[in-house]
Amino acid sequence: MNLIKSKIPRKREFRIDEIRNDFPILQRLVNGKPLVYLDNAATTQKPDFVIEAIKHYYDFENANIHRGLHFLSEVATEAYETARLKVKEFLNALSASEIIFVRGTTEAINLIASTMEKSKRLNPGDEVIITNMEHHANIVPWQLICGEEGIKLRVIPITDSGELILDDFENMFNEKTKLVSVVQVSNTLGTINPVEKIISIAHKHNVPVLLDGAQAVSHQKIDVQKLDCDFYSFSGHKLYGPTGIGVLYGKTHLLDSLPPYQGGGDMIRTVTFEKTTFNDLPHKFEAGTPNIVGAIGLAIAINYLNAFDLQDIIQHENKLLEYATKELSKIDGLKIIGTAKDKAPVISFVIDGIHPYDIGTLLNSDGIAIRTGHHCTQPIMDRFKISATARASFAFYNTQQEIDILINSLNKTIEILK
Ligand code: PMP
Repeated sequence: MNLIKSKIPRKREFRIDEIRNDFPILQRLVNGKPLVYLDNAATTQKPDFVIEAIKHYYDFENANIHRGLHFLSEVATEAYETARLKVKEFLNALSASEIIFVRGTTEAINLIASTMEKSKRLNPGDEVIITNMEHHANIVPWQLICGEEGIKLRVIPITDSGELILDDFENMFNEKTKLVSVVQVSNTLGTINPVEKIISIAHKHNVPVLLDGAQAVSHQKIDVQKLDCDFYSFSGHKLYGPTGIGVLYGKTHLLDSLPPYQGGGDMIRTVTFEKTTFNDLPHKFEAGTPNIVGAIGLAIAINYLNAFDLQDIIQHENKLLEYATKELSKIDGLKIIGTAKDKAPVISFVIDGIHPYDIGTLLNSDGIAIRTGHHCTQPIMDRFKISATARASFAFYNTQQEIDILINSLNKTIEILK
């Protein structure tokens, strides 16, 4: 039995109570109060559908892949490769060999940085265009390569509302520009960036584009062929799947032109002490035993999500965003950081005279999980001249009632701390 092919739920109506029941952790108490989980941009919770599939895999199918002729190895290999096919469909890639399983978005970007350097597609003094709202995962990998001289990062600025200023984008290109690498949806500001426009401008200059889709995949349909992006990256754990698994998509001709990232088993064709020849895509980039159960769990999470109409999910999340924005805005001294017109359900805010850490700590005592800090986007903090924000981020299992609990607890917090 192929778990991924057989574990396809029937089409479902969007019924919030039923959805919440799918997620065991949402039923638990924290500090004696029902958990209100509003830290979905950090990681999403997992439905029992995924949790059970992982247990089933270990109970009945566990073996190492690709290398064995025995029954279980074939079952595990088929499940892992079916997971790849599932991700191929999810992203609408042209071919399953364009899907590389990695640890997450961070590893995907590091893989591209490292292999572009190794293949001299990126040389000291070359330029990569990013934005002012990148996660550190799309800043630091570029700073780690090309020695002392390094790579020059050209940064697309943002407005006070957290939208990209693309007026000068065209002027950033020159013969040293080798890549545009941008976040599709900001984890701190919630901004949904106009990546189609960015890609078409970059391609006019013959520069490939990498998208950081970590915050986009759970909130919108991704079609890499329609986007025409050259590379795409995301993490399974932000899509209701397990941690430790993510995806790098790349156009075949580009992946083919890059050398292996790591060496080891599975990525080779022949090895002698003098010389090694490498396997074809995608295996060339998957050295060693991969996160087999992670890939399967991710595919099962995609199956789970496919049971819903994505428009229902988007509509529900947008309602939460709208309601929370309206209610938070009523709080005296509260300022939302990131007010772009086009936003994902992420709200960063600061409150006059109260440190975000104190907000987070007091909300926690009411069982509410929000995130506080710089959210791995220190350049955004610098841009807005703040050191940290509190951030509530929503998933499709959140409710308006949970937002009311957040608002009540915030009002109480302000009374205590002011
Ligand atoms: N980019 C963005 C926009 C993110 O939100 C995150 C996770 N917070 C990452 C990259 C890194 O993802 P991961 O830690 O799963 O590799």
